[in-house]
Amino acid sequence: MVQVFGTHCIKHYLCSVNHLISDIRSIFYSKEKNNMNRIFVACWLLLCVVAAWGGKPTKHVWVIDAGHGAHDWGCGKKPMMEKKITLAVAKEVRRLINAQIPDVAVVFTREGDTYPTLAARADLANRRGAELFVSIHVNEAPSLLACGTETFIAKSAATKGANANKSEVLALLMQKHYLNSGLGTSRGVKKRELYVIEQTRMPSVLTEIGFLSNSADSAVMCSPEGQTLLAQSIVNALKEWKQIARPGVKRRDLINLRYAYQDYRVEDVQPLLASRTQRERQEVQGVQEVQGVQEVQGVQEVQASAEAPADTMPSLCFAIQLMNSSKPIAADDRRLKGIAPTRCIKIGTLYKVIAYLSPTYADARSHLTTVREIFPDAFIVAFRDGQQITVAEAQQQQ
Ligand SMILES: [Zn+2]
Repeated sequence: MVQVFGTHCIKHYLCSVNHLISDIRSIFYSKEKNNMNRIFVACWLLLCVVAAWGGKPTKHVWVIDAGHGAHDWGCGKKPMMEKKITLAVAKEVRRLINAQIPDVAVVFTREGDTYPTLAARADLANRRGAELFVSIHVNEAPSLLACGTETFIAKSAATKGANANKSEVLALLMQKHYLNSGLGTSRGVKKRELYVIEQTRMPSVLTEIGFLSNSADSAVMCSPEGQTLLAQSIVNALKEWKQIARPGVKRRDLINLRYAYQDYRVEDVQPLLASRTQRERQEVQGVQEVQGVQEVQGVQEVQASAEAPADTMPSLCFAIQLMNSSKPIAADDRRLKGIAPTRCIKIGTLYKVIAYLSPTYADARSHLTTVREIFPDAFIVAFRDGQQITVAEAQQQQ
């Protein structure tokens, strides 16, 4: 059970109320209408208001939802059922929050092997006026190679209003901290119409902590050490989010942060392309808006800026792609917002503008954050002998 107010606090409050009532009575039953008494009562009222505002801060209520339960065991099969893993990780998240973020009260949608409906889970968070909602789930796929973590935010961002930004920042932070904990693959942040995150009126995310169908992921999720690692990553993200998404933070700041953290949803996914099935490659590339890499036959340089002579590219190089176009884009085009030198290259039927040609991935990456302040969707591409190759392939050959 969650205790939002301490008993000490309640006793103090009741005591103040008793004093106030007896003072008001004494004035009413007193025959002499002494102004001093009225002033005294006014002071009492003022003190009570000040005490209420300046007393112990109310705890932040965070709702943690362990996905599934009872007859709905989610994915997997005995003994490795999703409902068991989500509850174990949720409990570990609560233990770590209680130990590390004392001004937060964790509310659970289920404590044991029960099944609250999706509506009941969302209603609980809405009724409690929760500050955020985190639903924990486990993935499964027909391909045994599919692995990694991913975090979903509501698709109908419009209904979430200002919370849409806060949800996205939290989702990006989760992916960042999963990676920082060495949990491997990040499948990124995605928008999807999922009941609990659509119907909650606060920032909310649904995080998938791994694939039960993948042996490495399931080893992590089914071991107590792995569960602690996953839970600590979630708590680290929540801690950082609490600093960022504090009341009064400007919307602009959150948007800036969103761009800063977008780093984690593109390149960190890309190195895994090499080990993925063809269908999965297409899915991931769809997220990155990479135009069909398998169709690329060769790179034809269309135009170079004055600073960059139209020489051939180094045999192996990385670059940052700024934009795509169906027509060539001149180096002094206003849409390039002053970034120079740039190169416009033709791949298939599309013209692509790239900049910051770099000999190493690290070098290209070091420019990415700055470029994204101007081109939020910019990402890293790689070339070998004039052919576009995946970043993963280029990193292996580096
Ligand atoms: Zn699930």
